[in-house]
Order: sequence, then C-alpha cells, then structure tokens
Amino acid sequence: MGIRAIALHLLLSLWIGQSALADDLSALARLDPAASRVVDDGAGIAIDLAISQAVPYRAFLLADPPRLVADFSVVEFGPSRPASLDRSARVTSLGWGPIREGWSRLVAGLDGPYRIASAEERVGETGEAEIRLRLAPEAADRFAANTRSGVPEVARWALPEPVAVEAPKRRQTGAEPLVVVLDPGHGGIDPGAEAGEVVEAELMLGFARELAEVLRRGGMEVALTREEDVFVPLETRISVARAAGADVFLSLHADALAEGEATGATVYLLADAASDNASAQLAERHDRADLLAGVDLAGQDDMVAAVMMEMARIETRPRADRLAGALVTAIKASGGRMHRHPIQEAAFSVLKSPDIPSILLEVGFLSSEADRRRLADPVWRAGFQEAILAALRAWAVADAAEARLIRQ
Ligand SMILES: [Zn+2]
Repeated sequence: MGIRAIALHLLLSLWIGQSALADDLSALARLDPAASRVVDDGAGIAIDLAISQAVPYRAFLLADPPRLVADFSVVEFGPSRPASLDRSARVTSLGWGPIREGWSRLVAGLDGPYRIASAEERVGETGEAEIRLRLAPEAADRFAANTRSGVPEVARWALPEPVAVEAPKRRQTGAEPLVVVLDPGHGGIDPGAEAGEVVEAELMLGFARELAEVLRRGGMEVALTREEDVFVPLETRISVARAAGADVFLSLHADALAEGEATGATVYLLADAASDNASAQLAERHDRADLLAGVDLAGQDDMVAAVMMEMARIETRPRADRLAGALVTAIKASGGRMHRHPIQEAAFSVLKSPDIPSILLEVGFLSSEADRRRLADPVWRAGFQEAILAALRAWAVADAAEARLIRQ
C-alpha cells in the first residue's frame, strides 16, 4: 500500500459513526469563519475548521496544480467568503461551497508538494466540532508518485458518466420544437465573478430560469445544465446538452474583467486562438475553476473522434457563427447594450460539442457598474430575454432552410 493509499484509508476511517451524528441530523452544520484558520505550522500548514456539529468528511491531495481537497457532508459555509479567513501565504487560493447534492467542498491551492501528516475531528461537550488537518512538506517525486490529478470518486456520489460519442445529432428542420439547453455559468464551489453582494453563479441561475420561461412561452423546449447552486464540471454540461438532444447550447455568464473597460453583452465562439488577451483570460479562468474544484482536465478531448471534429469544422461552426450574428442583431434591435466588439473567440471548453452549435454569452460584465445596474433591473432583463428568443427564432428558420437545401 502506497503512502497516499494509507493516508486516504486513515481519513476515510475517520468518518464519524452514528452516535455523533444521531443527535441532530436535521440541522445543517455551519462553518464559523471567525474561529477557523489556515496558518503556517512550522514548515507546513495547519487548517482548523470550526463547525457547529460533527460531520462525515474526507480529505485528500491532488496534483497539477498541488491542492488539498476536503469534502464534507454537509457544511453550510454561509455568506462568508474564503477571503475572510486568516490565511497562510503557502495557500495560494482558497475556495468553498456546495459541490453536489448533500456535499460541500473546500479546496486550498498549495505552493508546493505536501502530505497530510494528520487529520482529526474533535467534538466539544456542546456538540460543536473542529476538523484539524496538518500538512507537512513532501519531496516532489514522492508527491507525484502518490497523488493523482483527479478526485477519487466514491460510488455514492460519482458524477454522471459522460455520454459516449455516437452518431451526430440530426439537424433541426423546424418540424419539431427547437431544443435549447441553457447553461448558467459556475455554481457551488465555483461562484464565478463577485461584485459586493452580487455573485455571478447566482445571478446567471436566476437569469437562466427567467429566460427558460420566455423561450418555453415561445414554443421551445428548454433544459438547464444546473437547477440549483451546485458545481457542474464543464464536460458534464456538454453531456447534459447531448442527453437533452440540444439543437442549441447557450452558456450564460456575467464575468469580471480587470483589463480594459468591458461593458455590454458579448457573444463568444469557440476557437483555438483567442481574439484578444481578455478573452483568453476568461476561457482560462473557466477551466481553472474546474481544476480547482478537483476535476482532472487531462485527456478530455480524447472522446471526440476525428470524424466529429471534421464535422464540427465544416458544419457546426458556420451554424454557430450565424447564431452569434443573429444574437447581436436581435440584441441591438431591442436597444440592448452590446460590447464594442460584440463577437469574440477563445478556447472555452464548454463550447466543444462537435455537433451542437454552442455560444457563450456574457450578458454583461460584473466589473462594469453600468452592466451591474442593468443586470439588476427586471425590465432590462425581460427585454434582453425577448431579444434572445427573437434571435433563436430567426436563426432556427434560416438554419432549417439550409438543412433542407443540404439534404436535397
Ligand atoms: Zn463566468
């Protein structure tokens, strides 16, 4: 048994037995950020988490980049943000939040290789608990040999398997309702951009729900990649679209851009090379959020066969181009505010479906005060959502006409 295997076994055996949990299963455990800390401990790191009651948990290390992941069933992190915690400079990033139904996750980016030297959960007399993790520096080769790059899944919360690549979906002809999959960006442990109280993941979930209603009233079939504040890996979002038989995939975002003065809606298409620096950073940040949440990004493109990629290049890309154009036209016609370069490109992983025209729409930027004001205005949102409906309708008619031409 390798060192890592021993460590994991040790930690899994720490799952709290029935007696400690039986007291009050209904109450949610809460983190007390004021009594919690992530500090230097000699040459290592001490992580002490004060929680209102004992919870089952597991902790493990991941490589590329090095990070500690702790999963809890369930800890409510509340409105406090990770930035509020006392933090060791050896911890390069800190995130927490719901990861899926019944589970919360904390991820700490590390400045180098470590091992879990000890882990314990102490329960006080009044039932409150403290989880104490101690990390000690580890030799790079031992860390590499004993640490994997993806989360060790346990059967009770495995992700849905990515759907295997089968025959490409038939193009829509207008005979059936258009199937639109809306993808509210971020969620759970990955809040996306934040501006004061406004959190991108929450804002986009609300926007997607409203938009879904508008599109359904317009006769379309709509599915969402997430219905609540949970983490959904980018690859799973594509699988959801495929399983729903999507004609169109629309990822919804309101990111923050430090660079320049990004304001107004922006339509993003998939490309290997980004149209500018800011677009490249956006795409990178979205992949990084997946990475920090514990997803192994290596080899994700392997499932797409060469023939599908060829199809994507020849057929799907022009369809996505036309959808981007239709969105810009409709949003402008509705009086909605567009970015001065309204169509941009970058390597967004979530847009990689080879046979589903996929668009990432920045409804606005949380880094822009004017955009924040518009996004908070239900009247503005309703107008914007009607414009998306108009764009999808116009696109679907032209797209179906082209499909008929191709078939003849
Ligand atoms: Zn985003």
